[in-house]
Amino acid sequence: MNYLSEYVDIADQVITEIFDPVATESIANAYSLLSEGKLVAFPTETVYGLGANGLDPLAVEKIFLAKGRPSDNPLILHVASLDQALPLWQVNPQELQLARKLADIFWPGPLSLVLPSSDRVPSLVTAGLDSVAVRAPANAVARKLLNACPFPLAAPSANLSGRPSPTRAEHVTTTLDGRIAAILDGGPTEIGIESTVLDIRKAQPRLLRPGSLSRPALEAVIGKIIQSFDSTEPSPGLRHNHYQPRGVKLRLVNSEAIKAAWSQSNSILCRQTTGNRLGSRSGPLLLLPDSASDFAAALYNAFYSLEDLGVELCLIEQVPKSPEWRAIQDRLERATAD
Ligand code: AMP
Ligand code: MG
Repeated sequence: MNYLSEYVDIADQVITEIFDPVATESIANAYSLLSEGKLVAFPTETVYGLGANGLDPLAVEKIFLAKGRPSDNPLILHVASLDQALPLWQVNPQELQLARKLADIFWPGPLSLVLPSSDRVPSLVTAGLDSVAVRAPANAVARKLLNACPFPLAAPSANLSGRPSPTRAEHVTTTLDGRIAAILDGGPTEIGIESTVLDIRKAQPRLLRPGSLSRPALEAVIGKIIQSFDSTEPSPGLRHNHYQPRGVKLRLVNSEAIKAAWSQSNSILCRQTTGNRLGSRSGPLLLLPDSASDFAAALYNAFYSLEDLGVELCLIEQVPKSPEWRAIQDRLERATAD
């Protein structure tokens, strides 16, 4: 079933509450809503997640309805620790050893591990697959919330399907206000792009989605990884459109094209050094930091700014072809895909 058609008809409009996670009652209030099967957006170190009780099929279904997410796009389950992850998987000793090794080093952090799912996991979460992705986020608010919940949180990015992932609570409001029960406002997220998704079934690691944790960082710990996100059979969610600001056509172009367009009126998004080299211009200009990590942290906010500016076309400068830029390049390619 495709949920997009139902999303258009969704009837239960709600007032979306904004919780300040510094206030002592906020985590308890968020937990209370989640335990009633409602949706609460929360910050992680990557992007804001749209959380629901990951063991409650009705709650999980609301995620697909609220986001207009195609039902063949599986969700990542978020946990506080490896101990909470283990009952969600059905692993052989080799897989368990690899999961432990990776979790010891990279959890909490931006690494989602795909392993055979146990029968506790609703099939809506896995989109009918026999595997499930699980990660332990590092953000302090996310950890407090997960420690308060006796269930894992299914949490895709907290945006309408197809739009950029939210890196601030305001971005969540932009696309999901009135569609979800609450947002825990933890300020801007640190990393700004989504987790790395690694399939470690049968002890043969395959990189399903590049993310903020780079392939060399993983290979230093577990040896060779097969890269499969650009294969003919990509990870399920990668088939769909992603990260596209509403009403804005994005085009990824080389530095020569940026230079040629500098004196024209369309908007440009490029790195700071490029902007410094080319000087001032009259058209809209978004300058992003030169380092890959700072660029990633600023990228989706820049996309939402383009929506606010109401521009029709934005030229984006290609980024360097090195491992630390790989996930950013992937997001830019998807954002500019037709
Ligand atoms: P999102 O939470 O929106 O960033 O999307 C999660 C993504 O993780 C999906 O779109 C898939 O690409 C990937 N993913 C989640 N679960 C699985 C799984 N069981 N097998 C393969 N990929 C998965
Ligand atoms: Mg997403």
